[in-house]
Amino acid sequence: MLYKRSSALFAEAKNYIPGGVNSPVRAFNAVGGDPIFVKQAKGAYLYDEDGNKLIDYIASWGPMILGHAFQPVVNAVIEKTTLGTSFGMPTLIETEIAKLAVSMVPNVDKVRFVNSGTEACMSAVRLARGYTGKDKIIKFAGCYHGHSDSFLIQAGSGAVTFGSPNSPGVTQGTAKDTLLANYNDLKSVEDLIQANKNEIAAIIIEPVAGNMGCIVPQKGFLEGLRSLCDANNMLLIFDEVMTGFRLAQGGAQELLGIKADIVTFGKVIGGGLPVGAFAARNEIMEHLAPLGPVYQAGTLSGNPLAMAAGLTMLQYLNQHEEVFKSLADKTSYLHQGLEKAFEETNITYTINKLGSMISVHFTDEVYDFETSAKGNNETFKKFFHGMLNEGIYLPPSAFESWFLNDALTYEDLDKTIEAASKVVKTL
Ligand SMILES: *Cc1c(COP(=O)(O)O)cnc(C)c1O
Repeated sequence: MLYKRSSALFAEAKNYIPGGVNSPVRAFNAVGGDPIFVKQAKGAYLYDEDGNKLIDYIASWGPMILGHAFQPVVNAVIEKTTLGTSFGMPTLIETEIAKLAVSMVPNVDKVRFVNSGTEACMSAVRLARGYTGKDKIIKFAGCYHGHSDSFLIQAGSGAVTFGSPNSPGVTQGTAKDTLLANYNDLKSVEDLIQANKNEIAAIIIEPVAGNMGCIVPQKGFLEGLRSLCDANNMLLIFDEVMTGFRLAQGGAQELLGIKADIVTFGKVIGGGLPVGAFAARNEIMEHLAPLGPVYQAGTLSGNPLAMAAGLTMLQYLNQHEEVFKSLADKTSYLHQGLEKAFEETNITYTINKLGSMISVHFTDEVYDFETSAKGNNETFKKFFHGMLNEGIYLPPSAFESWFLNDALTYEDLDKTIEAASKVVKTL
């Protein structure tokens, strides 16, 4: 396939937009080459500026769980648009989506809507600090919670004591309040708690990690975090920006049977418009302004177009529980096909999967950031570009989960498996 026009458009974009993109992972830095400029999308397919049709496995990084331009969502947004696009005043639809979200998600009484997953996680941490009166948080290496300062932290040299900034512009002062633990490693969390007695407000985690490829929590890990939080007066924050309304109607909490104290959302909850949200029990949410002292606000929060898209999406998922089984079945089918294709070669690989999240790593075992980072990136690059050449659009980084959408047909999956068996022989 040719991507000539995309390359020309990228060159032009770079004149006016830093790196030519409005979010860095789109720039293909991890895989090399020029990004594809998309013109439109429908169902499981992307149509690019060169006239290529691609089978999509990123679904806008998660939101398009029912496929692109899902008609009920499109209609709802068009209809709302004619009635005025923003008021900065309360609207009925905000209560409707809040009521539905609260009914679908376990263990929460109230929800506040924001404009992105980043905002949701940033606000959840502030709320946890305000509620507990403590400053520090624990996050896990390789988990992504958006680009707010507190999360752009890596393990420092005194890893057990505090983290260090992993982006210029994040201060040491902020970094000292974020402690880094290892995914699937309870001992690393216990050590941090020991070394920071009565100073930790919350543990924030992706209950199924999707930002170092797909990594599934091992048996007992999340249960262990729940117990540690209970024993140490800390809140457990599940970042369900990826997993919420994707792994089940009630997200990872429901699928894995673990209760979090604060849950954050993004992606699917906005149906493809910019929406984030965070939710918790009344006793925690009561600390939020205007009820309580923890401040949080937004001019466009609860925007009617965004709420119309989100509400329509959630209503559909609420009425069609079979979507989650359908997605899991399709993902299993893809998994089996890929396993078979890879087994025929002597490539070292691991495929991780849960529900509609799946990822391929070119290493033998992946259960945390360190093992994920061992993946052979040169092999991934070749695999990515080989697949792209076959018309299959995978996330342009080995550190990202693939997201299946329910518009994918078994024929699409067969094409993908066929492409993979061809490409894997060239690696
Ligand atoms: C995408 C993502 C975020 C950030 O959401 P944005 O809407 O991009 O700000 C936070 N947490 C997780 C787990 C995510 O996947």
